[in-house]
Amino acid sequence: MTKHYSIAIDGPSGAGKSSLSKKISAAFHFVYLDTGAIYRTVGLAAFRAGIDRHSEQELSKILPEVHIEIRYDDSGLQRMFLNGEDVSEAIRMPEISLYASDVSALPVCRAFLLEMQRRFARDYDVILDGRDIGTVVLPNADLKIYLTASSEARASRRLKELVEKGVSTTFEEVLKDIELRDYQDMTREIAPLRRAEDAVLVDTSDLDFEQSFETLCTLIEEKLPVRREGQA
Ligand code: C5P
Repeated sequence: MTKHYSIAIDGPSGAGKSSLSKKISAAFHFVYLDTGAIYRTVGLAAFRAGIDRHSEQELSKILPEVHIEIRYDDSGLQRMFLNGEDVSEAIRMPEISLYASDVSALPVCRAFLLEMQRRFARDYDVILDGRDIGTVVLPNADLKIYLTASSEARASRRLKELVEKGVSTTFEEVLKDIELRDYQDMTREIAPLRRAEDAVLVDTSDLDFEQSFETLCTLIEEKLPVRREGQA
């Protein structure tokens, strides 16, 4: 069996996990799986079904009808499909963030998505980003990174992204949403967000995107026998 390499990147929302993972996976020819997008898809399904997003029982009832597919477009970008519909944009709406955070605290939701994530790591060289990749999903990942930044730095980055997408919101609202989600993700009983003991901590508060990218590439090249495209 071919050995596949896996990199786990965990951390709070807005630390830069997905934009950095996208660029790194392209540079090293790894497949990137944004696991938050999968939780968001379940969150969207719960939102549309109008169920109580804190109810394990209500979510269990709709899950058999929730068919999630992950596809990659021609430029390698991950697209999420819910029962055949491309929901890649819909899952990014701020109200869906809280739905995702709530349903992701339910054991039935995590169990539903665990195997889907592990299968990726068996089949490809992967970068998975999320909250519990290094602690639960891929405890034997070849490299674990815990990527974080101050909540203010994360809120201003997220605000910029939302404004670029035409979403009207304020710094205060985004900061409040980030702090609430941090709290929920870190204090939930099942798979809380925490740094795995063997994860390397990277704080990007004072790093710009390129500096963060270089830091992560160096870590990868030190730990794995892989090289970036164009590097000897
Ligand atoms: O990463 P993103 O902000 O898109 O994730 C949305 C929500 O999904 C998070 O707030 C978190 O509650 C949940 N999530 C999770 N485990 C993961 C990835 C995301 O619980 N591996």
